[in-house]
Amino acid sequence: MQAGCGNREIIRTIEDSMANKTPITVAYGDGIGPEIMEASLHIIESAGAQIEKEVIEIGEKVYARGLSAGIEPSAWESLRRTKVFLKAPITTPQGGGFKSLNVTTRKTLGLFANVRPCASYHPYIKTKHPVMDVVIVRENEEDLYAGIEHRQTPDVYQCLKLITRPGTEKIVRYAFEYARANNRKKVTCFSKDNIMKLTDGLFHKVFDELGEEYPELEKEHWIVDIGAAKLADSPELFDVIVMPNLYGDILSDVAAQITGSVGLGGSANIGEGCAMFEAIHGSAPRRAGQNVANPSGLLHGAILMLVHLGQAEVAERVHNAWLKTIEDGVHTYDIFAEGVSTQAVGTKEFAQAIVDRLGQKPLNLKPVTYAGSGGAMKLVPLKHLPTPVKETIGVDVFVYKGDCTADELGTLLEAKANGDGMKLRMISNRGVKVYPDGFPETFCTDHWRCRFLNENGGPITHTQIINLLQRVMDAGLDFIKTENLCTFDGEKGYSLGQGE
Ligand code: NAD
Repeated sequence: MQAGCGNREIIRTIEDSMANKTPITVAYGDGIGPEIMEASLHIIESAGAQIEKEVIEIGEKVYARGLSAGIEPSAWESLRRTKVFLKAPITTPQGGGFKSLNVTTRKTLGLFANVRPCASYHPYIKTKHPVMDVVIVRENEEDLYAGIEHRQTPDVYQCLKLITRPGTEKIVRYAFEYARANNRKKVTCFSKDNIMKLTDGLFHKVFDELGEEYPELEKEHWIVDIGAAKLADSPELFDVIVMPNLYGDILSDVAAQITGSVGLGGSANIGEGCAMFEAIHGSAPRRAGQNVANPSGLLHGAILMLVHLGQAEVAERVHNAWLKTIEDGVHTYDIFAEGVSTQAVGTKEFAQAIVDRLGQKPLNLKPVTYAGSGGAMKLVPLKHLPTPVKETIGVDVFVYKGDCTADELGTLLEAKANGDGMKLRMISNRGVKVYPDGFPETFCTDHWRCRFLNENGGPITHTQIINLLQRVMDAGLDFIKTENLCTFDGEKGYSLGQGE
């Protein structure tokens, strides 16, 4: 602040900044989307949200115009300009040829973190878990959602699971920073690194590495299966949970549902430049146009947006008025319960009930405070680890052959493909070693992974791999792909076959 700046100037500066509305992009979506968007905007604008709306069209109507991504090029311009997207749910058309707009938006705008707070509102909304206040931080861009799938043989289909160090560092850092900035006490990591030692192993390792920078936070790791069981049974044990994409997708719906209704939850999709805010649920087409839908999920998305925009006071006013409305028993059909609810209302009436309570706080449910939250997050640059020494020491050649046993294939490869310093080490089928010394009981498909290594140990050349493939082809075999076997600073960059 400049020297000599008096009280009047300070007040004028605050007034000016309030008058500076933040541009946001808004999409009304499909099904119940327009009704819950109107309701949510009515509430936050009545509470004093300083937003300038740019409305774009997405979803059904755009798909119908033949745009397979469900969004117009001009809409991208708006999103790139405002960098903030408040989005109602859309209906994804059935059948092939259409792309999921959610996945496209997340990936195109680099929205790497999906944040879903899931809290219960006992005794005002029926739930088996009266004490629950969990935030799921889901990685949003990687894992099995890279969408790289192949049918490799008549029997076998494959989907690549990609976990990267930069992607994992970004999401794990975000989870720790979120916990610190929002006065959370514990961060839990879910992974399946007992089975997927390299991919999920990296996720767990990065969690342990970065966790050391947050001594004030409690940290724990659960294998995802027992972790999921505990989350569903005793959600009060958890605070912030960070997970790779697929586990996060499934478990954030479970967490939202056990609070009482999937219709209550909102989510934030955060990137380095842009952010998207939405309800967890879909477009519920059968409820559309009847003024019955619960707007709470999208409203919670809008509250997260206000915090993101630095309008924490408005967010707090809206959230506390919503809590008071819930506490007063003014409920939409999906959360209405005899004995607890006092009034069954439609979408518009519910929104108005919240507007009427702006400025009030709940008496029994815990009021929220957003002042100072979110702002202190430091998403520091990625670690720059020294580039490791990479050596290729072998190759897995995947072969399609339907009418043979493991021993027949092994004998053929030993006779025809070994040579030029390369030697068949083993064959596996669906990951289980079947040659040499396989078990006749092991079920085999038409998809064989044939592992060749340097016969004397040490590195091999790309020319040796190409020559090996030539010999495999000359043996009359159909190779469908190869994976190089590398070491990084001497550490194996591949898993062993089960039983190898
Ligand atoms: P849905 O979430 O739309 O509905 C599931 C159930 O919950 C239905 O019984 C519905 O009536 C109820 N419900 C959902 N939201 C509600 C609300 N706000 N108030 C009251 N009840 C509510 O899931 P679905 O039926 O599987 O999907 C419908 C469409 O939504 C599909 O086309 C799907 O692809 C799409 N979808 C979109 C998004 C998104 O845009 N983010 C997310 C999920 C599903």
